[in-house]
Amino acid sequence: MANSDVVVIGGGIVGSCCAYYLAKAGLKVKLVERGSICTESSKACQGHLFLWELPEINVKLGRESKKLYHQLAEELDIDIELRDTGSMSVAENPAGLNTLKTTIDELHKYGVKCELLDAKEFIKREPNISPQIVGGGYFPEDGQLNPLLTTIAIAMAAQKMGVEILTNTEVVGIELSKDKSSVKAIITSRGKIETSTVVNAAGAWSGLIGEMVGVNIPVIPRKGNLLVVGNVPDNFINCKIILASGYLDSLKGDKKVAVAANVQQTSDGSLLLGSSREFAGFDKAVNPEVISQIAKRCIKFFPALAGMQTIRSWAGLRPYSPDMLPIISDSAVKGFYVASGHEGVGITMGPITGKLITQIIMKQKTDLPVEQLNVSRFAKKK
Ligand SMILES: Cc1cc2nc3c(=O)[nH]c(=O)nc-3n(C[C@H](O)[C@H](O)[C@H](O)COP(=O)(O)OP(=O)(O)OC[C@H]3O[C@@H](n4cnc5c(N)ncnc54)[C@H](O)[C@@H]3O)c2cc1C
Repeated sequence: MANSDVVVIGGGIVGSCCAYYLAKAGLKVKLVERGSICTESSKACQGHLFLWELPEINVKLGRESKKLYHQLAEELDIDIELRDTGSMSVAENPAGLNTLKTTIDELHKYGVKCELLDAKEFIKREPNISPQIVGGGYFPEDGQLNPLLTTIAIAMAAQKMGVEILTNTEVVGIELSKDKSSVKAIITSRGKIETSTVVNAAGAWSGLIGEMVGVNIPVIPRKGNLLVVGNVPDNFINCKIILASGYLDSLKGDKKVAVAANVQQTSDGSLLLGSSREFAGFDKAVNPEVISQIAKRCIKFFPALAGMQTIRSWAGLRPYSPDMLPIISDSAVKGFYVASGHEGVGITMGPITGKLITQIIMKQKTDLPVEQLNVSRFAKKK
């Protein structure tokens, strides 16, 4: 295969955004994907642009990324269903409300618009919510899009700018220089591509790609199951995204399985019911026990769901990094870059990741400080 300035591994949202911004910067790029574009986590997710996940760097990444999505929406050939919906978080007991209050107080320090609501105000805004709730939070800066259309549209835009997309092509090895200090080529199931620069955007599989060059990337799969409910009135959720305050606890990696209600209404009216977090290796089978827990949690907050019919369920693998920060970084191997570990906010952070990786590769000043996102933070840890 012909040489390339940069080879991006992985055709999910992160790899597609990296290819897009690299091509925009004038580089000759190949995007290598073992399946087709958007087959894994980026297809299996909800489309919440979640701008209030702490710590502060995550908030900044989300905010910058949303600005980029608005620019992209103008440019792309497909309507990505980007909407400035805002989101709400609901508490079923005083402890949950307290968690939200602490979070909101901290978010205010970083300039995030958000407010605590009492139960009466919450129910006024969202009449389908259970009268048993004790209050919640409102986050007007959040948004929503269709992740499948978005990933495909960005990959197509990258292709239009000259990116060569190689699907059904699996990366099976990376050739290094004799002293193992720099990248020379990648080996794929369809041949060798000579290149000095590789971006590892292989999502939950990025740790396996890291092993090919001896860079420790402790990203592991964190399964999430989703349940779809069809034929729902358009205004079932006015603000389109409501997640339980328990969602914040479920993010912590201290349980094998964690479930919290997370209900999103998409542009076509369907409801996506989540969310679960499960460490189950690379197994993508839907877990019926977890699905049942999701349904119970969601019905608790939206009693009307009990009379509705689910039409589909599936599971996907989030790329979980142990400190819940993404990795957007160069590495100890010259020419080997990492864009991974976004866990539950990879859709939110796709564009800013692509832009920052491009700036790192081009040795330009980055739009945000990236030191704390460097993969070297795991160098000595197993
Ligand atoms: C149920 C669920 C709900 C979610 N909801 C949201 C949400 O509302 N908002 C949000 O921001 N995020 C959400 N997420 C998280 C989001 O889906 C991920 O963070 C994001 O999709 C990760 O994108 P990625 O490109 O890194 O990984 P992926 O989309 O998994 O892409 C990685 C790609 O690499 C390819 N690959 C792997 N190994 C190789 C190889 N050796 N050779 C070639 N190709 C390879 C894979 O085939 C895959 O296509 C959710 C996730 C789940 C599971």
